[in-house]
Amino acid sequence: MKTSPYKNMILELFAESHVLSISDIHKSIPKADFSTIFRNVESLLKEGKVKKIVVDVDNYVYELVSKGHEHDHFVCVDCGVVEEIHIKHAEINTPKKGKIFDILVRGLCKVCNK
Ligand SMILES: [Zn+2]
Ligand SMILES: [Zn+2]
Repeated sequence: MKTSPYKNMILELFAESHVLSISDIHKSIPKADFSTIFRNVESLLKEGKVKKIVVDVDNYVYELVSKGHEHDHFVCVDCGVVEEIHIKHAEINTPKKGKIFDILVRGLCKVCNK
């Protein structure tokens, strides 16, 4: 499969944003159609350049994979804001000494928790 020029454009968008949804990316690159953006992002995912954060069923965002900057996420169930959080994985008891890849904490952000 040939490399799409959109891949680099997509990767550049992450320089300014922590997380992006497919529609966020589409807004920034309107000349590419939605399914083209989706295919390019899924391809970057397979290459290990971005990772997917599943916020909810049919609701996910992507972020750039940056080695040495691993972190987990907090998501606000009301406004959907996604923030970086740090949890010590070693302190969590996994069944049968399993391995944790990432943790998603759900709650209300400061703005929504009024
Ligand atoms: Zn919120
Ligand atoms: Zn993140």
